[in-house]
Amino acid sequence: MPQYLRLLGIGGIGIIRMSGQDCFKILDKIFQPKTKQQIENIKGYTIKYGNIIEKGEVIDEVLVSYFKEPKSYTTENMCEINSHGGNVMVRKILEMCLENGAELAEPGEFTKRAFLNGRIDLLQAESVMDVIHAKSEREAKTGIKQLEGILSKQIAEIKQDILDVMINIEVAIDYPEYDVDDVTNQQIMDMLIKVEDKLLKLEKSFDNGKIIKEGIKTAIIGKPNAGKSSLLNAILKEDRAIVTEYAGTTRDTIEEFVTINGIPLKLIDTAGIRKAKDEVEKIGIAKSREIAKEADLVIAIFDVTCELTPEDLEILELIKDRKSIIILNKMDLEAVLKEDDPRIQKASNHIIKISALNYRGIDKLYEEITNLFQLNEINLDNEIVITNIRHKNLISKAIKNVKKTKETVENKMPLDIIAIFIKDILEDLGNITGEVVSEDIINEIFSKFCLGK
Ligand code: GDP
Repeated sequence: MPQYLRLLGIGGIGIIRMSGQDCFKILDKIFQPKTKQQIENIKGYTIKYGNIIEKGEVIDEVLVSYFKEPKSYTTENMCEINSHGGNVMVRKILEMCLENGAELAEPGEFTKRAFLNGRIDLLQAESVMDVIHAKSEREAKTGIKQLEGILSKQIAEIKQDILDVMINIEVAIDYPEYDVDDVTNQQIMDMLIKVEDKLLKLEKSFDNGKIIKEGIKTAIIGKPNAGKSSLLNAILKEDRAIVTEYAGTTRDTIEEFVTINGIPLKLIDTAGIRKAKDEVEKIGIAKSREIAKEADLVIAIFDVTCELTPEDLEILELIKDRKSIIILNKMDLEAVLKEDDPRIQKASNHIIKISALNYRGIDKLYEEITNLFQLNEINLDNEIVITNIRHKNLISKAIKNVKKTKETVENKMPLDIIAIFIKDILEDLGNITGEVVSEDIINEIFSKFCLGK
């Protein structure tokens, strides 16, 4: 059945997207190309100018793109009507399509069809959503790489490693008169080690993937007047900062996603920092403790114009054993508190001096973060990065099954038993790309998509 996209909101153009066997039949009833060409004579990948007509009356002037099966996003016949934007016109044309036999698309319907029709695998389908929802260039780039199939290829390669050995196992099971168990066992072990190695590498890449996708959860803490909100302003005002605001995980908090020089930071409780203008509302140590708890990185800020206070000492205590950066602020003023103070030195290996008010030294902060999270080592062009928790969980499960299989080999279990364990690994991998995935999971994945994609 043909399907539609409805794009709400005001824009110069609106697009109604239709896919399915009958979509050109429906289009034919409502659209007249200026050239009066028959649909059979219109090639795929062309655009026709014409009118949407109802009962002889022109409803809108539109451009229609044609995609003929199998060369379309869904592999089905598809068309996209580019009408004038705005709710009224798009809705009207949408209704006309519905009246002529189309159905409204579910969220993710088009991509789901592309997957079900075998044009892309599940991994690639999921990356479509990642690209759409990307908050930073890095994240979008990772999504595009996955859409191109870089991760699918890697999974296929690992599966092939397994299948190559599986053939020998099957032979050994079928022809037990040839005593090849020892050879086969060694082969299996070598394969398992190789596969485990590759999977572990993928699993580890999730640490970076998480950073790329979610940003480094960063808490800025410090006693009142240390300069938290000045630092926040300096970060947000950075020329190349792309800022997106989110509601935080706890009530009444706002998290801000900032990408600077490719470093994605998710700043926790920026509202709290901003709000804390007057003395009564200044963020206290209890609040600092709370926000530091959920952070990947704690930036502790100290005012160099005064000695360390008991509150400062508590903050130093708080950041011990955490990924942290100490900021000595107000360096434009005379410093009482020195960098070589042993209490400071003991608390963190990363200490920088800045003047938040004048935006001085902020670049040093980014340098420090880059080093701390080894962000320079993420080479997006060559490296495969797992960003999706579903993939990560399945890879972890596959690793567990590899370990189990290794044990069965070490314990000299019969080959047919070993083969069952190996099939579990293959199933985990198949679940990632969607070869053996259940309908429920497919529905769940696509329900998170937006309409029209
Ligand atoms: P918060 O309470 O930790 O958020 O601190 P604020 O950012 O509100 O700063 C407290 C006071 O210190 C304000 O009057 C700021 O203008 C001032 N301040 C912050 N950073 C600097 C700095 O680098 N140099 C100087 N001279 N003053 C600063």
